[in-house]
Amino acid sequence: MNKNVKSIEISGIRKFYNKVLEVEDALSLTLGEPDFPVPESIKRAMIDSINSDKTRYTSNNGIYELRREISIYLEEMGISYDPENICITVGGSEALYSILSALLNKGDKILIPDLGYPAYDNIAKILGAQIIHYKLNEDFSIDIKYLEEIIEESKASMMILSYPCNPTGAILSKNYKEKLHKIVKEKNLLVVSDEIYSSLCYEDYYSLAQYEDLKDNIILVGGFSKMFSMTGLRIGFFCSSYEFMKEIIKVHQYNVSCASSISQWGAYEGLKNCREEVVFMKEEFMRRRDYVYNRLISMGMNTNLPQGAFYIFPDISNFSKNSEEFCTKMLYEAKVACVPGSAFGNSGEGYMRISYSYSRETLKEALDRVENWLTK
Ligand code: PMP
Repeated sequence: MNKNVKSIEISGIRKFYNKVLEVEDALSLTLGEPDFPVPESIKRAMIDSINSDKTRYTSNNGIYELRREISIYLEEMGISYDPENICITVGGSEALYSILSALLNKGDKILIPDLGYPAYDNIAKILGAQIIHYKLNEDFSIDIKYLEEIIEESKASMMILSYPCNPTGAILSKNYKEKLHKIVKEKNLLVVSDEIYSSLCYEDYYSLAQYEDLKDNIILVGGFSKMFSMTGLRIGFFCSSYEFMKEIIKVHQYNVSCASSISQWGAYEGLKNCREEVVFMKEEFMRRRDYVYNRLISMGMNTNLPQGAFYIFPDISNFSKNSEEFCTKMLYEAKVACVPGSAFGNSGEGYMRISYSYSRETLKEALDRVENWLTK
């Protein structure tokens, strides 16, 4: 066995989800997966692609039609990449793995947010990289002073940035975008920017990839799991300069050859013709966010109002100092499952993650149960 693989565990999110299956009648708010069906025309496009035998390997970087549509879509957000600078992947997950595998040597230092999607730490560990965590402020923005200090001290030259954020729902503000621009420029950092939730941003959208003068410093990761509610169809992408693309694509090729041709045609249809559905889903998520936020506040939980994605990260420290213990008790006694904050990093202790990507009925019932349980 590879020692690095032995040293990691499956993600705390999945672990908790698996626990839910053991508890009869438990309601799960654990997974980050929209509850909407895939838009009808995407389904039809995928069926058509099968019927017209578009079922062969595509080029390694994916069909041109989809890369062109991604290029147009990104342009609408102020981000310019030509189709040649875009590679279609098996979800954002494969993009992250291929990028980090191509770029990291054993022992290389990488800056990862402490509170973040668990894949970052674990991929880095598998690759034998040295993780340098950077801290967040109480409102989940980046502690810039700390970041500057730790870059100075560690001399790390690569960084993961993740907005809109899983698990906190925070987004990158204009102010922080500018602060980060200065740091990335000064230190010539390479930033892997995971923007998989870009379609679910409830405020103006800001990304470091919007800076033309940072184009050689940014690798952008995106995807369609959340945008078109097509998590199981495994389709995402990354964008980078040619220098990085030509290396990353080698890993991508030997790993998966190409993303599923059927899903590629589905995502193509989605970008061309399903934008209204995306707006509909986003508006529904905003209503759910407001509902969950207000309920949590009325239960006495300190919580930030999320501005993106579909997660909320309340402070549970008034009730327990140990998030794993709290969530386990809540699961067995209130029959509601949420993910312990500690699954997302040390700073997540004292918090839990609620995914509000579930129906309003499920959210209401789950929050009623939590409220009754806390009152008791
Ligand atoms: N990045 C983040 C922050 C995520 O939350 C997820 C999925 N939960 C991914 C990447 C990967 O998503 P996918 O592989 O489905 O595109």
